[in-house]
Amino acid sequence: MSRVNLVGLSPSELEDLAVELGASRYRGRQLATWMYKKGVFDLDAMSDLPKDFRARLAERAVIEVPEPERVTASRDGSLKLVYRFADGSRISSVSMPDDDRITLCVSTQVGCGFECRFCLTGVMGLERNLTAGEIVGQVLAANRLLGSERRVTHIVFMGMGEPLANYAAVVTSLRILTDPKLGLGYPPRRITVSTVGLVPGIEKLGREDLRVNLAISLHAATDEVRGRLMPVNRSFDLAALMAALRTYPLAPRQRIFFEYVMLDDVNDSLADAARLAKLVRGIRAKVNLIPFNDWEGAEFRRPPLPRILAFQSVLLDAGITTTVRWSKGEDIGAACGQLREPVPA
Ligand code: SAH
Repeated sequence: MSRVNLVGLSPSELEDLAVELGASRYRGRQLATWMYKKGVFDLDAMSDLPKDFRARLAERAVIEVPEPERVTASRDGSLKLVYRFADGSRISSVSMPDDDRITLCVSTQVGCGFECRFCLTGVMGLERNLTAGEIVGQVLAANRLLGSERRVTHIVFMGMGEPLANYAAVVTSLRILTDPKLGLGYPPRRITVSTVGLVPGIEKLGREDLRVNLAISLHAATDEVRGRLMPVNRSFDLAALMAALRTYPLAPRQRIFFEYVMLDDVNDSLADAARLAKLVRGIRAKVNLIPFNDWEGAEFRRPPLPRILAFQSVLLDAGITTTVRWSKGEDIGAACGQLREPVPA
């Protein structure tokens, strides 16, 4: 029987496991504290756990935090961390420092099945879902790499994969990351889950009471253009998506983020900007414009800067908070839409 990885079990699952092994729930809470709060991954170092409990645990479980196979540094300070799992599949996280923040972009799947035309990860197709342990593991590994002085402060689920297509593992990882007592204790508002717009998943997430931020990869303001760029729009069109967002529960002052990749002559006209402003009207929204990041074989180009700024102006004039987000790590293949690792032979 293969042994279960304790990393990725929620505090309540760890309590259940402790009971299964004949110990009290308290032992499960201690385990959670060692791993998630103290960053200790060695059973032998968990000094306040009884020896026989540790021995029984060791028969049934392992504690595994992935070790990056490769770490590449960008000129802008960001790091790309590539992981290779036992089955040979590879994923990456990107750590992005900015003033007093360190944002970690984590992957949720190996590859992605949604085939957005402008996204390199989309080209490789979906291989498999990551487990909750592999998702949380990316955060634990990054924190370990950063050393005792620094820690990841913000987490964005914007790496490889579609978070809401791996719903259960993503929600478990969010519970572990946000649990203030027994988990990593990240404030929900420092975590953002980004989606291509899977309406049932958005509605379900809204009912979890996790209070993390939601980002929508919108990229177009008409069904015609969005359907061409993102096949998912044929299943959930703009009307369905915006209806779900209008009822999405937000905390006071919390906003929904809209990602909009700027593609030359495709979605970047002033008329597009006006349509976008109209589309998000009535929603507490923040728009992030992402100038397209190039990759070999892509059929798109980045618009000239003046057009990006003119597009932004239309939104700002309509009273919508809008930033231009220049991706980090473009020189190391770590920017938005550039994540692809060689597929095992
Ligand atoms: N699947 C989720 C999570 C990935 S987030 C989602 O799509 O939201 C990655 C973000 O980068 C998405 O907004 C995606 O549309 C954007 N992106 C993809 N390819 C890009 C490219 N070549 N240049 C700029 N942004 C890109």
